[in-house]
Amino acid sequence: MRAITVRVPAKVNLQLAVGPLREDGYHDLVNVFHAVSLFDEVTAAEPGDLVDPGDPRGLGGPIRVMVRGASAAEVPVDESNLAVRAAQALARSAGRSYRAELVIDKAIPVAGGMAGGSADAAAALVACNELWGLGLPVEDLMEIAADIGSDVPFALLGGTAVGTGRGERLTPLETTGTFHWVFALADGGLSTPRVYGECDRLRAAAGAGVPRPVASEPLLAALREGDAEGLGRALCNDLQPAALSLRPSLARTLEAGRELGALGAIVSGSGPTCAFLAESQAHAAGLAAALGEDGEICRSAVTASGPVPGAMPAD
Ligand code: ATP
Repeated sequence: MRAITVRVPAKVNLQLAVGPLREDGYHDLVNVFHAVSLFDEVTAAEPGDLVDPGDPRGLGGPIRVMVRGASAAEVPVDESNLAVRAAQALARSAGRSYRAELVIDKAIPVAGGMAGGSADAAAALVACNELWGLGLPVEDLMEIAADIGSDVPFALLGGTAVGTGRGERLTPLETTGTFHWVFALADGGLSTPRVYGECDRLRAAAGAGVPRPVASEPLLAALREGDAEGLGRALCNDLQPAALSLRPSLARTLEAGRELGALGAIVSGSGPTCAFLAESQAHAAGLAAALGEDGEICRSAVTASGPVPGAMPAD
């Protein structure tokens, strides 16, 4: 059986600066993406190999998908699945009707602000490019990725990068060493469009102008120098007030991490996952254990490190 498995990381936004609402409904962003070692795996195979045709979780048609893992039930298995959309877009760009079965092993929290759906889309592009023998270079995959969603190109690239425009124009950033993270996972997700809507509503209610987004120099310097303390101080997310407004319990989660000595505490992207920067791997393990043992603070807490590479075949 010919099957290609691709491993793809989650991301956390180290800086998410959100500009004023544009006429096209998007916002200009300065988005510092950082890939961390929380991975989904997407396996692509010839039809008939992986997805049982009688399994209601599999979708009929040329691209079928099945999702496994604790939060599989929250992920659609129809054409709204971003991995299916990515495979379809790749087949279209190659001008042929290819077939594939995709199996997603999901570990990235769903609707958690860690771009799990975008990650699966990126992984599906890499896996189907290989399965179908298309041999497209990564630059071509990046273009298809940008059409699927603004977080998809970064999941191909990995590492640490700054995104401008809608976040999809990427420039890789120089970093030193490894940063150690704890992610506090919440029950239930937050819808990204709803969080942007709440951000616009809070800003309109405050009545103040919204500045053009610019990259934080202290943040870029801390990344360059491998300075975890400096990075912890510089973490910033313009969507955080909106996420806290929609999910007030997150304020307690962030505070608990700070009290336990996190160098920085931030809502990840549109939330509700919260990210904490630790001093070391051992500090991260202790922080995760302490956050996870109190069921009032979060559902569970996991450790991860970054930066890690983007979507690539698993060995
Ligand atoms: P982002 O950080 O990019 O805003 P997110 O991490 O908050 O995204 P995702 O897990 O990417 O959110 O998914 C958001 C929604 O997209 C889910 O609620 C789900 O309905 C839909 N979705 C489509 N395909 C997938 C997929 N492969 N994995 C997860 N969710 C998917």
